[in-house]
Amino acid sequence: MDMGIVGKTALICGSSKGLGRGCAEALAAEGVNLIINARTVLELEETAEDIRKAYAVEVKTVACDVTTIDGRSKILNTIKKLDILVTNAGGPPPGKWHDWEREDFLAALEANMLAPIMLMKTYLPSMMKQKWGRIVNITSQSVKAPLANLGLSNAARTGLTGYVAGTARQVASHGVTINNLLPGVHDTDRIVSIDKNVMKTEGISMDAVKARRKSSIPVGRYGTRDEFGAACAFLCSQHAGFIVGQNILLDGGAVNATI
Ligand code: NAP
Repeated sequence: MDMGIVGKTALICGSSKGLGRGCAEALAAEGVNLIINARTVLELEETAEDIRKAYAVEVKTVACDVTTIDGRSKILNTIKKLDILVTNAGGPPPGKWHDWEREDFLAALEANMLAPIMLMKTYLPSMMKQKWGRIVNITSQSVKAPLANLGLSNAARTGLTGYVAGTARQVASHGVTINNLLPGVHDTDRIVSIDKNVMKTEGISMDAVKARRKSSIPVGRYGTRDEFGAACAFLCSQHAGFIVGQNILLDGGAVNATI
């Protein structure tokens, strides 16, 4: 299917690896020019070079921490106008409800709620003016079904979801859609570090951790960044103009819910 977005420009935050990279590659495959972002310069530049070699698109890089005001200023100085925005950053650390103080909540809200909100606020006016835009926020399955060991994520991402629900409906008549993609377990560095944490705290092998996790997913495996990227590219396509303010789970059926 032709997504109809050749020549558009996309900023994909947190995209040197993992789910963000999956989105960047899927958009590049559709002929979209990219600005990719991460904090680690070397890895970011290597990813940019890989994508340039594989697809005939322009790839700019902005190395910065997207969860800080300085980082977002650096992005804004590089790119004033966008067609597509994919927000993403690292997730908050795991733990239980009693582990966190006010500062931990503030950090999680800054990274996983306020950073995407501020980016949307920055780029929405120009998208609305040009009467076309696509915004996809990478959130988590924890928005639909809380994860006991990820309370900071449960809290911050649900706040973002509420903001998107209200905002998406205010900008839709200007040709701009905002939706959220909710990853379940995907095979990325983030999940490796969470699995390692389980291995350590429960004193079991990595194979045992993975086998148990896979058995909780009806598909029987972890998702891939390519599958995730393909869903993102569709939401950013011309065909997705009637999908507004939705929360789309990509979890292999793990969340056991009728709707
Ligand atoms: P990942 O493999 O660790 O990749 C994260 C990417 O974002 C890297 O490119 C990283 O590069 C960049 N990044 C992290 N923090 C950043 C920041 N503050 N500013 C700019 N770039 C930043 O993680 P992932 O698995 O793709 O996860 C992406 C998001 O989805 C996370 O919020 C995660 O919690 C959420 N999620 C993932 C899963 C899963 O199964 N993988 C499930 C549910 C939710 P640098 O470190 O160099 O900055």
